[in-house]
Amino acid sequence: MRSKKNAADDILRGPRAESFAKATASMLGFADSPSGRPLSDPRRLHPKPPFEKQTQPWPGLAGQMTPRPDHGEDSYKGSGRLLGRKALITGGDSGIGRATAIAFAREGADVALNYLPEEEADAEEVMDLMGEAGVKTTAIPGDIRDEAFCIRLVEDAARDLGGLDILVNNAARQQARESILDITTDDLDWTFRTNLYALFWITKAAVPHLRPGSAIINTSSIVAFDPSPHLLDYSATKAAILNFSKCLAKQLAERGIRVNAVAPGPFWTALQPSGGQFPDHLTKFGHDTPLGRPGQPAEIAPLYVLLASNEASFCTGQVFGATGGEAGP
Ligand code: NAD
Ligand code: MG
Repeated sequence: MRSKKNAADDILRGPRAESFAKATASMLGFADSPSGRPLSDPRRLHPKPPFEKQTQPWPGLAGQMTPRPDHGEDSYKGSGRLLGRKALITGGDSGIGRATAIAFAREGADVALNYLPEEEADAEEVMDLMGEAGVKTTAIPGDIRDEAFCIRLVEDAARDLGGLDILVNNAARQQARESILDITTDDLDWTFRTNLYALFWITKAAVPHLRPGSAIINTSSIVAFDPSPHLLDYSATKAAILNFSKCLAKQLAERGIRVNAVAPGPFWTALQPSGGQFPDHLTKFGHDTPLGRPGQPAEIAPLYVLLASNEASFCTGQVFGATGGEAGP
């Protein structure tokens, strides 16, 4: 008598596997390539420095950047990995949050998007793209430095989506300062409230909604490992986020909730021209990575998809980097 294992092997290796692979390739648009999905050389994929000198008032708009960041608008193809999930993403209008929102929606997740009211122009583009994916979406603009707003944000997201099972804490403030002597108490408070207090408030409000199998993903940074001298307050928050994620993972394991962090290297996002870098640094942003360029948000969204998905069921309390080869986790 044939074992179940033999039958499964037949499916994985036999003609049915081949036709499944062909159908998938066709669905993902690779069917025309005679040898399958073409290789892409990471050195040649995206713009390299020098970049045009540019500045914007905080918090900046992706739509005003030259070149415009690539958030996967024209490239990300989903395959149902998050079908039926319900996600809240902070800072989802631009940059890494936008790329994650587009990817989540194309993977079948309903998405609640938070951002600042002055970023409405960027947010509308994301809402339109997510709408095209046919999922449920809700826009909840507001300032997460306010605890009452953070609680309302989570409650509104859960109400509008009919539940919550993925939380992406991604919003942040980054302002370059030459010296500790230039960082005011207001600066410190702004950075810590946005990057740390809000993450605590939003997570605390979200936990009661999260069922076993849910995932929390926090955005840390390469500066948690190798801090930039001109980002003293910001780097401290990113190191704290890493520690918070590892600790919370231990705490929430008994509820079946996974917690991980992503640590990006230099990424071409609105954070940088709006005070995140000094203008002269921005023109050569990313030149010192081994790949010789900054990352584009589309190149990191797949990590968020993986960490949100059931496939990452044994990953918790970990940090995942995308740094172009620079020091990372
Ligand atoms: P981004 O500017 O596109 O996104 C940051 C978002 O934070 C903004 O769009 C804004 O909506 C949100 N935000 C800021 N203050 C807020 C507030 N008070 N209330 C509500 N929302 C607020 O930039 P990004 O680079 O995509 O940043 C996303 C995450 O990636 C951040 O956590 C950042 O620290 C992290 N990161 C970025 C880089 C990089 O090089 N770009 C490197 C490491 C880590
Ligand atoms: Mg933005």
